[in-house]
Amino acid sequence: STALGVGATSIIRVSGNEAISIVNKIFKGKDLETVPSHSINYGHIIDGEKVIDEVLVSIMRAPRTFTTEDTVEINCHGGIAPTNKILELLLNNGCRLAEPGEFTKRAFLNGRIDLIEAEGVMDLINSKTEQARNMAINQVNGKVSSLIKNLRQEIIEVLANIEVNIDYPEYEDIEQLTIQQLIPKIQKIKEEIKIILSESENGKIVKEGIKTVIIGRPNVGKSSILNKLINEDKAIVTDIEGTTRDIVEGSLNVDGILLNIIDTAGIRQTEDLVEKIGVNKSLELIDKADLILFVLNNNQELTEDDRLILEKIEEKNYIIIVNKIDLENRLDIKEIENNPIIYMSIVNNEGLEELKKKIKEIFNLEKIVTSDLTYLTNARSISLLKQCLEGIKDIELGIEQNNPIDMVEIDIKRVWSLLGEIIGETYDEELIDQLFSQFCLGK
Ligand code: GDP
Repeated sequence: STALGVGATSIIRVSGNEAISIVNKIFKGKDLETVPSHSINYGHIIDGEKVIDEVLVSIMRAPRTFTTEDTVEINCHGGIAPTNKILELLLNNGCRLAEPGEFTKRAFLNGRIDLIEAEGVMDLINSKTEQARNMAINQVNGKVSSLIKNLRQEIIEVLANIEVNIDYPEYEDIEQLTIQQLIPKIQKIKEEIKIILSESENGKIVKEGIKTVIIGRPNVGKSSILNKLINEDKAIVTDIEGTTRDIVEGSLNVDGILLNIIDTAGIRQTEDLVEKIGVNKSLELIDKADLILFVLNNNQELTEDDRLILEKIEEKNYIIIVNKIDLENRLDIKEIENNPIIYMSIVNNEGLEELKKKIKEIFNLEKIVTSDLTYLTNARSISLLKQCLEGIKDIELGIEQNNPIDMVEIDIKRVWSLLGEIIGETYDEELIDQLFSQFCLGK
C-alpha cells in the first residue's frame, strides 16, 4: 500500500479468506491464527530458516475491516529489497498481486462503502488543496451519499403511496387525492435535484480549479501577467501533469482554490498562417474555459479581432485587463467600459490584487470555501442526476396529460433506479472495472 521506494517503513496489505494463514506461514513470532483481532504483533518474516526482516503485523478479522474480509498489514522496513522480498514470499505462498483499486473495489462489492464513497477515496488521494481534501473526506464519510439517499427515500414514499392506490382501487377517492399530492412532492424532488446540480459547479471548482485562459493580441503583455501572477504567489503548484489534458502553464492558489492558467502565447509561433489561426485557436480555448482574461494594450486602439473576441466571450465569465496603463492612452475606453475591467501595469506592479479580488467576486469563492463542501462532483454522478431531471419532466408530463397512475409510476421508478446507479446500488460491471482501474496500486 505504500509507494515502492526508500523510506522508514513500508506497508504490505493482504486481504481475503486466507490472508492470515498465508502470512502466518512466513512469520516467526506469535501464532497469527490465534491472536486477537485488531492486534499488532511483533516478529520476523522468514524464508525457511533465513530471517528476511523485523516487522509488525496487524491482524484484522472480518467483517470489521475496510474490505470486510480478513486483512493483514505487514509493517516492514521501507526499502525496495525488503519489500520486494516479502511480496515475493507472499506470492510463492498463494497470494496474488492486487489490481489497481482492488481493495476499494472489494470494499464496494462487499457493501462496506457505496460508489460515491469509493470515488471519494480516489479524490482524497488526488486532492491538491486543503479545500479539495475537505470536500473529498465529506464524500468518503457518506455526507454526499446521503444527499442521494434522501432523494431516494422521498421517491420511495411517493411510490408507496401509489402502490396503495393500485392495490386498493375500490377506494375511488384515493386516486384523485394521490395525483394531487404527487404534484408538490415531485416539484420538491425536482428542486432538490436542481440545487445539487447547480452546486456541483462549485464542487468542480474546488476539485479541479478554475480553468483560466489568457487571450489577446501579441505583445499586449499576456506572458508578463502570467509570470507575475505565478511568481508572486508563494503556494505555486506547477506541473499538474496527468490531471488535465490541457497545457497548463501554471497554477496559483487563490484563497484555497486553484487558478489553472493557460497562456495562448504559443499561438503566435505559427507566424505564417498568422492572426487567423491565432484567433481560431483562441476561440477554441474560450469554449473550454471557466474564466477568460482578455488582455488589451492601453497604448493601442481596438482592432476587429478584438471586437470579434469580445463578442465571443460575452456569454462566459470574463475579465478585460487593460494593461500598460503606464503608457499613453490610445485605447478608446468608452467602447469597453460596460464590461468587467481591471486596469493594470505590470512594470509598475499595479492591478494584480484587483484582479484576484474580481475573480473571487465572479466565482463567489468566499462563499464556496466557507460552505460545508458537500458537493456531488464526479462526471458520472452528475450525468446520471441530469438524467433524473429529464425523468422528472416525463413524470410531470404524464400527470399533466392525465395518464393512468401506473404509467406515471413507471417513470417514477426509473428516476429511483437512476439515483440507485449513482450510489452503485445497481451497476454495470465494465463500468466498475474501468472506474477502479483509475486508482493507484494497493488502494
Ligand atoms: P504577450 O505577447 O502578450 O505575451 O506579451 P509579453 O508579456 O511578452 O509582453 C510584451 C512586451 O510588453 C514585453 O516587452 C513586456 O516587457 C512589455 N510589457 C508587459 N506589460 C507591460 C506594462 O504593463 N507596461 C509596459 N510599459 N510594458 C509592458
